[in-house]
Amino acid sequence: KMAGRSTHTVFVPDMMEDNKRRLLVANSISNGIKNDEFTVHYQAKVSPNETVVGYEALIRWHSEQLGFVSPAEFIPIAEQSGKILSITKWVIQQICEELNQLLALHEEHVVLSINLSAHDINNASLVDYIRAMFEKYSVDTSFIEFEVTESAYLENFDVANQFLKQIRDMGCSIALDDFGAGYSSLGYLTQIHLNTLKIDKQFVDNLNVSKRSTLVTKTIIEMAKQLNLHICAEGVETREQADFLIANGCHQLQGYLFSKPKSLKDILAS
Ligand code: C2E
Ligand code: CA
Ligand code: CA
Ligand code: CA
Repeated sequence: KMAGRSTHTVFVPDMMEDNKRRLLVANSISNGIKNDEFTVHYQAKVSPNETVVGYEALIRWHSEQLGFVSPAEFIPIAEQSGKILSITKWVIQQICEELNQLLALHEEHVVLSINLSAHDINNASLVDYIRAMFEKYSVDTSFIEFEVTESAYLENFDVANQFLKQIRDMGCSIALDDFGAGYSSLGYLTQIHLNTLKIDKQFVDNLNVSKRSTLVTKTIIEMAKQLNLHICAEGVETREQADFLIANGCHQLQGYLFSKPKSLKDILAS
């Protein structure tokens, strides 16, 4: 593999395998939707005193052809092959159908978070679909949050921001996902329609690893507070991480320490 300059030829076999797999995944998505192969799991978000304050909806796919495929694999492929919109629409409809059962478990106001990909946000027609679904299922939009990543703003800032403004006007809230993981540009944080900042797992992982990484996380939390944003930390796995985040003013925590993503059936049974 160290054969020299023409590295592009060296990697051809791997790339072919890779491309084959990607093509297979892409081609299986539409059938997967038709054949009911997708489900939604829900992962609890808790307050510092560990009451459930919301859930994040995370899609799962058990493909008849391919077995279990992780969203970390198929979501990027769906984005690149033009299939993400049909996945997003499926997730939204599924959540509309399941929402009331989830809400019925809680006396307090819990919020259900739905992930949107950058491609979704640059498609104005999705707003109409969301509005129609919420009307059809009589969804109270104060129970709904959308999670978007910073990359959503890279393609076309104005289109993305207009999309999210319409979502907000509908009564839903918006969280900026994976904050700090990508191409963070602090400049637009004051310009975008946003309620919550989700601190990326990498910052949570690095807590107490070094003084400097701890300081960075502290600074992000402090900045979000100054901007009047809610702060949710994701990927919390240890008590130490949770204690630090709570001591520094995080409003919401999410991670395996509290709960793994579960099917609605398992949540109802627990
Ligand atoms: P994400 O939105 O950042 O979601 C968080 C991921 O971290 C989820 O992985 C979740 O299961 C995992 N996680 C939660 N707590 C912990 C923890 O304590 N430790 C560790 N190691 N992991 C934790 P998942 O479900 O595999 O999803 C991966 C990514 O796929 C998501 O990252 C999101 O970008 C995307 N995704 C999942 N569902 C959807 C969806 O319905 N629509 C869209 N557009 N993307 C989705
Ligand atoms: Ca998310
Ligand atoms: Ca995230
Ligand atoms: Ca992520």
